[in-house]
Amino acid sequence: MPHYTPLIATIVAGFTASFIMGAVAMRLRVSPIAGYLLAGVIVGPFTPGFVADSNIANELAEIGVILLMFGVGLHFSLKDLLAVRRIAVPGAIVQIATATLLGMGLAWALGWDMLAGFVFGLALSVASTVVLLRALQARNLIETERGRIAVGWLIVEDLAMVLALVLLPVLAGVAGRGGGGGSGTSAIVTPFLITFLKVGTFLAVMLIVGRRIIPAALHWVVHTGSRELFRLAVLAIALGVAAGSAYVFDVSFALGAFFAGMILGETPLSRRATEETLPLRDAFAVLFFVSVGMLFDPRVVIEQPLPLLGAVLIIVVGKSLAAYVIVRAFGHDDERAVTVAASLAQIGEFSFILASLGTGLGLLPEAGRDLILAGAIFSIFLNPFIFSFFVRKRDPAEDEAAAPAPAAERPHVVLVGYGRVGRMLAEGLRAQGKPLILIEDDADRIEAARAAGVDCVQGNGVDKRVLEAAGIARAGGLLIAVPEGFEGGAIAEKARALRPGLRIIARAHSEDEVAHLEKLGVRQVVMGERALADRMLTLIGAAPA
Ligand code: AMP
Repeated sequence: MPHYTPLIATIVAGFTASFIMGAVAMRLRVSPIAGYLLAGVIVGPFTPGFVADSNIANELAEIGVILLMFGVGLHFSLKDLLAVRRIAVPGAIVQIATATLLGMGLAWALGWDMLAGFVFGLALSVASTVVLLRALQARNLIETERGRIAVGWLIVEDLAMVLALVLLPVLAGVAGRGGGGGSGTSAIVTPFLITFLKVGTFLAVMLIVGRRIIPAALHWVVHTGSRELFRLAVLAIALGVAAGSAYVFDVSFALGAFFAGMILGETPLSRRATEETLPLRDAFAVLFFVSVGMLFDPRVVIEQPLPLLGAVLIIVVGKSLAAYVIVRAFGHDDERAVTVAASLAQIGEFSFILASLGTGLGLLPEAGRDLILAGAIFSIFLNPFIFSFFVRKRDPAEDEAAAPAPAAERPHVVLVGYGRVGRMLAEGLRAQGKPLILIEDDADRIEAARAAGVDCVQGNGVDKRVLEAAGIARAGGLLIAVPEGFEGGAIAEKARALRPGLRIIARAHSEDEVAHLEKLGVRQVVMGERALADRMLTLIGAAPA
């Protein structure tokens, strides 16, 4: 058994360094992303000490991209995608064109030729999937209207890149540079058509065949009753479809994963599928940032400070201003425009792929690739700050998750959680005509509750604003029906702070949780297992006197 294997070394170094640097970032109250990037620099080839394998790190990061996009697909329906096409398609195209022109301007100033400028500009124009999704997820914005526009925009950019990657070698061929094939119009038109055909076939296969097979397979697995098999099935579908689409149809991994997720999202199993992929997804998404940090060569900052500043300005200011103007021009409000603009104020994986393809084909000078890499690192580093500064957090009252807080005459009951217990509580309260407002985190459950006629606020019960939106200040009681007693304790504390003396009844599953809740002043705690035992004792006629 060899003691050194590059795969294990890279995973260990990646996780350990990002954990340490992420913890430091947390202590310093900056975004953990900054810590992960720095972790990458530390294990990268440009700093002394251990050097992880950057090819392996890139591949591991790709798994993160796949699982992230799969997760987004799970929460995205075809309807959502089509609903934002009117803004996302022209928006992404105009924004790519603007950024490309700006990049060409900078390249011209640096004395590069037109084609170099074109590749350079194109690389500066596409946002990173991971950075965008992480930013939106951290703020719980994916399922808001502004989040959907940003994701739709990302999908269009992704499709545009598929096309760009196919056409670059042709362009190089026409221009008589290395690698490419013949010349003339047909040399351009043919690959263009072939790519269209492939993407079209991919979409057709996914939406017609995949839509039948994938949910059916998962349903079958559910009925086997094995949790392990279900988890494997979800991972096999996410990774298998992503890889399959990439190999067969030449679309990106991300796009394949997104469609696999979207198809599964239409089934009631989407919630469980999401839960199964969460831990892996988060771990691998972190490796993405590490792999980016590894590329950072500090020499660029010293050797080309002004061009680097120009590139960063194009990415952070030029691109986002263009996006802002376009979203506003389509009649959307300031908040949506700012969110989309901030989401796009960075570049990442696609830019690296374009840059290395460009240099490989002799289209882009090496200096261009270095600028793109450094620009990506700086823009990813800056992105969380831009978000905190410009983008308002999700408001519980936002879009369809709006708080319907009825102006009840009688004080209402606030219920947290619409799962196994919460659902029965809601039914019971409704049957007795007691006014009720539900707080639930999960979008699918909110939908089910709404269908049952329950007034809801979507969000985490630990969030003060969510409790306020549910009218806790006017409530007559709080029922905490979440399975975690310690989480229940946090909800109880927040609620009491907003309404001292509020009657709280909480759920628990262990003696420790009961003790914890009681210490926080929640006197009425029902422990599920004890309630079960009492009832069973009663049934057998051995109830304690
Ligand atoms: P179950 O485990 O079936 O009783 O379901 C518990 C429900 O509570 C799930 O639907 C969760 O989404 C929901 N839930 C758990 N924690 C919170 C929280 N802090 N805020 C709102 N909903 C929650």
